[in-house]
Amino acid sequence: MKRFPRVMIALFFILSFLIVSILADSPKTTKEKDEAFRWVDQNKDRIISWNDKIWEYAELPMEEYQSSRLLADALEKEGFQVERGVAGMPTAFIATFGSGEPRLGFLAEYDSLPGLSQKAVPFKEPLIEDGPGHGCGHNLLGVASTAAAMAMKYVMETRKLSGTIKLFGCPNEENDIGKTFMAKEGFFNSLSAAVDWHPGDGNFVPLGGSHAIHNFTVTFRGKTAHAGGDPWDGRSALDGIEIMNVAVNYLREHVKPTVRIHYVVTSGGKVPNVVPDYAVAWYNCRDVTIEGSEEIYKRIQKIAEAAAIASETQVEVKLLTAIHELVVLEKSSRIMQQNLDLVGPPQFTTEDQEFARKVQRTLGIEQAGLHDRIIPLRPPGNEGFGGGGTDVAEVSWNAPVLRLSIASEAIGGPGHSWAVVCTGSTPIAHKAIITTAKVLSATMLDLLTQPKLLAEVRAEWKEKTKGKPYRSYLPADAKPLVVPEPKRGS
Ligand SMILES: [Zn+2]
Repeated sequence: MKRFPRVMIALFFILSFLIVSILADSPKTTKEKDEAFRWVDQNKDRIISWNDKIWEYAELPMEEYQSSRLLADALEKEGFQVERGVAGMPTAFIATFGSGEPRLGFLAEYDSLPGLSQKAVPFKEPLIEDGPGHGCGHNLLGVASTAAAMAMKYVMETRKLSGTIKLFGCPNEENDIGKTFMAKEGFFNSLSAAVDWHPGDGNFVPLGGSHAIHNFTVTFRGKTAHAGGDPWDGRSALDGIEIMNVAVNYLREHVKPTVRIHYVVTSGGKVPNVVPDYAVAWYNCRDVTIEGSEEIYKRIQKIAEAAAIASETQVEVKLLTAIHELVVLEKSSRIMQQNLDLVGPPQFTTEDQEFARKVQRTLGIEQAGLHDRIIPLRPPGNEGFGGGGTDVAEVSWNAPVLRLSIASEAIGGPGHSWAVVCTGSTPIAHKAIITTAKVLSATMLDLLTQPKLLAEVRAEWKEKTKGKPYRSYLPADAKPLVVPEPKRGS
């Protein structure tokens, strides 16, 4: 009987210790964050209507006139100073609020993909035959970042917090153009930090890197002739391409396993009985660092020259864009993770889950529905072998970037497909946007109100980028290809 109270006391201490340690680790809210969350909830209908409109516009890269105008106008109305048509791109803009340090950046995208037009139904049915569609969810991306920046401005105003927030309207992400040309103009180099996100099929803070890419065309010019009558008078531009491609395929044996090389022939003559005097191949080469990618690019350039000598043609290599690998901040990513834990995953309903399962049934994949949990922070297992690239990398060499992924698509569905487009204007996407706007604004409020935390983030970033100051790999005279605004019927 005497021992019983001692056991109780010991149990009491163990339990108290457990509770205290759980609380210390659990995410905390603040008055500022609660205000941001309230702003997002109160403006939900407006935010959702922007998403649904941009989903419907589904404008192709560099043609995002209506989409960028919608976001820029909304930001201007909200009290942001908006500069339009930056870095030589009519659909790029920068919205600024506040002044002084810190300078925090949000990234918005809004371009679609060709041929992916799709209705909001769980089976393949285009809205417009062969029309464009938001197959990468950039409608959600731009809108949630915009909402987060607005919520943040609201809190800064009501609480009289000083600092600058900037939202970058970045066109043409699909071809890695927008942020690359904006970075070349130095638009990101004064940022203290930035946040970025991408819709996907899971709720997590990504720690995976991305590949550096050189994206270029190779044009051969030869001499035409009658292919049957006097072929000896012709010099085939297509021969140039074919010799080059064969040599590049031999090159593959002598590159590191992290390298990727791929091409398509976009022009190779029209008919076989004419020696083609014009042919074009479109190439990408990638590696885990931009130095690696640059080395392969130079070796391919040499091959192109050799092919021109062999085929007695002229060759021109034109670099369209070149992007770095992402700077990943493993330690600082915990800030985004804590805020994701605080906000929680999107609260999908049974109808949302059923919609996603129907999509999966159509695709013939496991009917796992939508991801409704949070994946803990952990490094990826396939370092170096993923091969995807993003122009967010250009921002990440100019300032620390914290990233996020939120579920808005059926688990396991293919990216860049109708299966992504079909949920993009449904309550599934709406819930993902609201969740994201809250997580991004809460993360930024941490960086704004805790200078020590921001200093830690910057210290990690400085360590990662030490000795490698940002430089654009674009040629000095490179200009983005501008597409004029199409005339629309009234
Ligand atoms: Zn994307």
